[in-house]
Amino acid sequence: MSTRTQKRDYYEILEVEKTSTDVEIKSAYRKQALKYHPDRNPGDHAAEESFKECAEAYSVLADPDKRAAYDRYGHAGVQGAAGAGGFDPNVFTGFEDILGGLGDIFGFGDLFGGGRRRGGPQRGADLRYDLEITFEESATGAETAIQIPRQENCDTCSGTGAAPGTQPAVCNLCRGAGQVRSQQGFFTVARTCPQCRGAGKTITSPCKTCRGAGRVSKEKKITVKIPAGIATGQQLRLQGEGEAGHAGGPSGSLYVVIHVQEHEYFRRDGVNLFCEIPVNFPTVALGGEIDVPTLNGTEKVKVPEGTQTGTTLRLRGKGMPDVNGHGKGDLFATVQVITPKKLSKDQRQVLEQLAKALPKEEFKPRKRHEEQDERNLFDRVKDMFG
Ligand SMILES: [Zn+2]
Ligand SMILES: [Zn+2]
Repeated sequence: MSTRTQKRDYYEILEVEKTSTDVEIKSAYRKQALKYHPDRNPGDHAAEESFKECAEAYSVLADPDKRAAYDRYGHAGVQGAAGAGGFDPNVFTGFEDILGGLGDIFGFGDLFGGGRRRGGPQRGADLRYDLEITFEESATGAETAIQIPRQENCDTCSGTGAAPGTQPAVCNLCRGAGQVRSQQGFFTVARTCPQCRGAGKTITSPCKTCRGAGRVSKEKKITVKIPAGIATGQQLRLQGEGEAGHAGGPSGSLYVVIHVQEHEYFRRDGVNLFCEIPVNFPTVALGGEIDVPTLNGTEKVKVPEGTQTGTTLRLRGKGMPDVNGHGKGDLFATVQVITPKKLSKDQRQVLEQLAKALPKEEFKPRKRHEEQDERNLFDRVKDMFG
């Protein structure tokens, strides 16, 4: 008696809905194919069957005509379409494409003889360089030279790895294919050739300069232009300044990550700068001039009579330049009245006279809503000036 079970529904196999889009079906198939792939399930016959089942289901559902026929007539509608044994090798046309980058990991690209040669052109690796600059450099912009150790093509052998005057020989293990094939159950599995590592060639007399690698480590001096206004964490991309590509592939990029040193006085927030200026009591009481440090020297700023501690002065356009060239920010200087710690006899006398002369005020504790804001000074200033 036959125990043959009824063929499973294609939608069910791929775990999709009848209403699923092509993209959803493709994505579901990708997921299933990876799950059941023989490379991941060596010797597992059930997984192999599931893998074949998925491939068959996909071969029908990915084709609009076959899918329509299947939707209408069921398995009968597509009988024969999926080939003998229910498995159509053609379904793997474009398989690589479905699996994207993972094709490499599992050797999918070569699984069904579609065949992509390894050792073809490859883009060089990207490099990162951490560059520390001073606060002033970030304010004015700068040009600086950096030394980058990177892999470059060997000049002696022009990157072939073979000594000048010699040629790399065709690999005798893979006969130049770069891959070796082995039977694994139902599948022929192609792997990168272990002898030539996919290049298809072996070097019999290696270049002395690079010891056959075709590449050498070199220190390269690169000039980096730092735009004014750059901040910590921002990066500059220098296209083509990364590592050399393989076999004629383009070079990678160099990313220069900026770290700006702290400033003695200024704290930066976006394009604005903040600082605190200690001032003597008479200056704020009588009014006067104070020196405010700026990015280029100091500036005399008037404080009006009766200025309170915590008052913030705004110096327009004295902040950081915008890195995209959209003007400059402001500088906010907060007045901080300081109390002298030591007084001479004369000073003490004057202050005592002042104390007597001042009206007897009843200072009451501040009402809660008037209490000095506990928050950081910079946040308060930001709020004040919006
Ligand atoms: Zn060389
Ligand atoms: Zn080989």
